[in-house]
Amino acid sequence: MDKNTKILIPEISGDWTERLRSGKTNIWNACSHDRPHRNGLPEVRLDPPEEGLYAERIDGAWYWVSGCAKCNGSGEKYSYSVCEKHNICRLCSTHRSKLTETPWGHPEGFTCKPCQDAEDTLAKAEALAKVAETDYDEWDYRNLDECKCPHCATVIHIETEDYGDKNMECDTCKGLFELTTEYSVTFTTKVIGDRVTQ
Ligand SMILES: [Zn+2]
Ligand SMILES: [Zn+2]
Ligand SMILES: [Zn+2]
Repeated sequence: MDKNTKILIPEISGDWTERLRSGKTNIWNACSHDRPHRNGLPEVRLDPPEEGLYAERIDGAWYWVSGCAKCNGSGEKYSYSVCEKHNICRLCSTHRSKLTETPWGHPEGFTCKPCQDAEDTLAKAEALAKVAETDYDEWDYRNLDECKCPHCATVIHIETEDYGDKNMECDTCKGLFELTTEYSVTFTTKVIGDRVTQ
């Protein structure tokens, strides 16, 4: 797609400024909860004439312009509108329409299931090879600042609200382990009245 694509949208008044995007669909004066937009204008929904285009208001008129991060070289992550040509697996270039399984989202587009599986297998092998360099000692996995898988030593980030004792499965090696959240006691003292010095 030409990054300079600029196709006038005659259906949409250049005075309209309220526009939402829902996937590739552009919605002007969107209704909310079945009630007309507060500006009183009619809701209009349009899909771009070609994948990768979205509507942009330029000098008081609406145009379809290229939103494909790859065509535009914008480097935008999790790009909203991807053109047909660039709607491919970031690793093996399989087109989205040829996929048989749900792909994984990625900042640069998507990763197809077979590529993701291959990456996961590699990450597991690397982690296990690294951990095999030293003998296993369960003490290496006690009272740590972070949750570390006792099979492959991958550090697993745990949000504060997920603290607790539970059984877990490591995303990297699929190993099962038990997590215990250890609390340590600390003491704080503060003088009451005047500090005793003699
Ligand atoms: Zn493109
Ligand atoms: Zn792939
Ligand atoms: Zn692991």
